[in-house]
Amino acid sequence: MQEIVGEALARRLADWGVDTVFGLPGDGVNGLMEGFRRQRDRLRFVLVQHEEAAAFMATGHAKGTGRLGVCVATSGPGAIHLLNGLYDAKLDHAPVLAITGLPETSVLGSQYQQEVEATLLYQDVAAYNLAVTNPQQLPGVVDIAIRHALANRTVAHLSFPSDIQVAAASADPYRHVSPGTPSASSPSFATPLMPATHEELARAAEVLGAGRKVAMLVGIGARDARDEVLAVADALGAPIVKTLPGKQVVPDDHPLTTGGLGLLGTKPSEQAMEECDTLLMVGTAFPYGKYLPAPDQARVVQIDHDASRIGLRLPVEVAVTADARLALRHLLPLLTRQADRSFLTRHQRGRDEWRADMRALRDASRSPVAPQYLVGCLDELAADDAILTCDSGTVTTWSARYWTIRGGREYYLSGNLASMACGLPYAIALQHAFPGRQVIAYVGDGGFAMLMAEFLTAVRHQLPVKVVVNNNNAYGQILWEQIMLGYPEYAVRHQQPEADFANWATGCGGYGVRVTDPGQVPDAIRAALAHPGPALVDCLVNPNEPPMPGKIRYEQAKAFTESFLRGQPHRVATLATVARDKINQLRS
Ligand code: FAD
Repeated sequence: MQEIVGEALARRLADWGVDTVFGLPGDGVNGLMEGFRRQRDRLRFVLVQHEEAAAFMATGHAKGTGRLGVCVATSGPGAIHLLNGLYDAKLDHAPVLAITGLPETSVLGSQYQQEVEATLLYQDVAAYNLAVTNPQQLPGVVDIAIRHALANRTVAHLSFPSDIQVAAASADPYRHVSPGTPSASSPSFATPLMPATHEELARAAEVLGAGRKVAMLVGIGARDARDEVLAVADALGAPIVKTLPGKQVVPDDHPLTTGGLGLLGTKPSEQAMEECDTLLMVGTAFPYGKYLPAPDQARVVQIDHDASRIGLRLPVEVAVTADARLALRHLLPLLTRQADRSFLTRHQRGRDEWRADMRALRDASRSPVAPQYLVGCLDELAADDAILTCDSGTVTTWSARYWTIRGGREYYLSGNLASMACGLPYAIALQHAFPGRQVIAYVGDGGFAMLMAEFLTAVRHQLPVKVVVNNNNAYGQILWEQIMLGYPEYAVRHQQPEADFANWATGCGGYGVRVTDPGQVPDAIRAALAHPGPALVDCLVNPNEPPMPGKIRYEQAKAFTESFLRGQPHRVATLATVARDKINQLRS
């Protein structure tokens, strides 16, 4: 059988080591689907319910494996639906190739059905963005697109008119582009890690050595540098403060870390930032400036492998443009061990107090269920190498504080795009990539409802993903943001009744259990985790539980009060919850 372009594309993807493609067929990609069918022994096609989920899956796959994620959608609406998940990849630096269809070349420009100018639409999101118009462009443009995505850790996009998809793949491809050939030893084209120069490291060591109160801020860019981060922090006597995506860099129970930073962070981390005289930033572009040292407070050394990301948030005295692990490994011998440990020990004490405060809010006796108790039970009962995918909302706060990284645990969220709805698609992709591991999507009712049809995808693919829904029947994060702005909440709570997601799970053919009482929480989670297939726990939690910042600032307290004076509904329930939280903390 003559090879068509669709097959040449699929074959080339497989040659690059791609084993899974997430997507949804349509009449704009029939030729590509035939190509995937012909290569089905090498490429698994994960059929989804909505293209946005396919893009999130490709992104989740790329974030979790470090390898290329691939998603496919038809022309017009399919291509449009992919966009949100692709922006998530772009903003969080995940390598993803998006493949879309176009109407056939003979009708392009005639306002044809589903004629959306995909390359124009993708101009902002894709670093490499091409409509393929000649079969001879393959396989060169596939190689180039993949190289762009991997080398720059970003999004590439190829769009194929339907007649090109079924055209004969040329036996004599156009060679001017001199495509690279993936080698068997490096099918994913790993970019060589960039080492630091001796001069950069010597200057960094000098600044760090002069500091008396040195803190480290580590982000997801230090993900492969756990041992090095710990060794350098120990040498510097520096508390390790973690960004939220960087949560998995070092275990939460390690004595050197004070946990996260920001609205969702911890009080001791915030204090370490307020007091440090020197800051070592590694693999992070933490966006919230007001949580970083004040201007002129601290000397800053920043390590990032992308020079364009250095100095985005703070004036930097020493820029080290290098891979985090290599840079830290070579920096370590240049450092003299800091003898004065008082800065570190002070913040370690603060960390112990903070943890006691957080434990006090995990109250098993409260009804409705305290969200802290739900996620606390999940944290206790999940495996030591579980992967947690989290959605955006109050669940982000609860997971930041109560999901502890220990052993080989991992944690993924839509960090910089902060999109809702990513939790379940990420989990599906990661369960495909790591079939032997426990993969849990911890989501709010709002984020889950957006792409809940993908629970069917999990059932149909017999993926044992677990979903825990923190069901407060509200857009809880926005509710609290409105209050913190000084205004009464508006249009953020749903009418009764709460959605019954457990029924949805069983209706799909999975396991579902609804929890309304705190006493049921541990058994429900145990049963879901033990279930061999997809399982969902739908827990009704207290919608009036505030995700308080680590340190409450005067303006926040003032705004909170103002919103109440301006007529905040549910005042009594909210104040009762806040008072109960405070009493629990004082008692502990
Ligand atoms: P990125 O912004 O992705 O930066 C990583 C950096 O590492 C990049 O500059 C990259 O070039 C570099 N890098 C990558 N690989 C390497 C390598 N091998 N060597 C060297 N450098 C490398 N985040 C918080 O921290 N606190 C919060 O309170 C918080 N609240 C949030 C609330 C919600 C509801 C949501 C959805 C998100 C929240 N976030 C929070 C996430 C936040 O928006 C940012 O995504 C996050 O702070 C950025 O983390 P990062 O710097 O680790 O990652």
